[in-house]
Amino acid sequence: MSKGAAYLDGAYMPLAEAKIPVTHWAYRRSDVTYDVVGVWEGNFFRLDDHLKRFRASMTRLRMTPRETDDEIRAILNRVVALAGLTHAYVAMDCLRAAPPPGAPRHPAFAPSYLMIYAVPWVWVAPEDMQARGMHLMIPKVQRIPPESFDPRVKNFHWGDLTEGQFEALDAGADFAILLDAAGNVTEGAGFNVFMVKDGTVVSPDRGALEGITRASVLELCAEAGIPVEIRPIPADEFRAADEIFTCTTAGGIMPASRIDGRIMGNDRPGPVSARLRARFWERRAAGWHATPVRYTVT
Ligand code: PLP
Repeated sequence: MSKGAAYLDGAYMPLAEAKIPVTHWAYRRSDVTYDVVGVWEGNFFRLDDHLKRFRASMTRLRMTPRETDDEIRAILNRVVALAGLTHAYVAMDCLRAAPPPGAPRHPAFAPSYLMIYAVPWVWVAPEDMQARGMHLMIPKVQRIPPESFDPRVKNFHWGDLTEGQFEALDAGADFAILLDAAGNVTEGAGFNVFMVKDGTVVSPDRGALEGITRASVLELCAEAGIPVEIRPIPADEFRAADEIFTCTTAGGIMPASRIDGRIMGNDRPGPVSARLRARFWERRAAGWHATPVRYTVT
């Protein structure tokens, strides 16, 4: 199962064999919540935080799979062990099925179930892109408003993020950073965002997922005595930033070097971003927030 191991509603299998019915609302309505935890050098990173966020997302969507958090923890270990991976991208999805025949066509009548899998580590931005700095742009498409769907519930409503990625492609950029209706920065396709201005690190206060890597960045800033502000970031201020970096589970801290075609600094990751990124991986190598994977499959 080295290409990927899966758990689907009670059974383990190679990932290629994990299939869901196309009539399930998870598929037809994007009625899914998920989380992703990383494994690096044989350790989960912030496993409890991911489990807590996953449970909060399921509760918010009124999904009640049969597995407890301890059982989910055991399954996460087991899929990584079955795949035999020391560096893994480990996804946990809770899917809504469909109401059984005869039941009202209402989500309350559709049971939910889990699909959990481990595959070899994935980088959101390839390492060479991280080294030269991401080229970012602000697209026309706006992020779905938090009043419509709470972005703190990790979800598959990616229509806006996907459109943003096509706008980025057309503009010759790597990734889009979406604004909200008020013109403030939110996040991108699978990552949170920070800017650095006059030595202060700034991140949006709303409209985005409460990323676990973002929380780690805030911890690193506190340890290093770097001032932080959590507040709205208007687009013009963002475009004039000294530095910008993004962060996510499948990538860590990913510096940018261009925004809307403007070169920041010397067209390479800025000093604060580079320092935080180096520190992040040093801390990871030293066992920061680490939980060793149990590789013995019983
Ligand atoms: N924002 C979005 C929309 C995401 O999908 C993700 C991760 O997939 C993030 C932010 C980063 O969150 P985390 O650091 O918890 O991986």
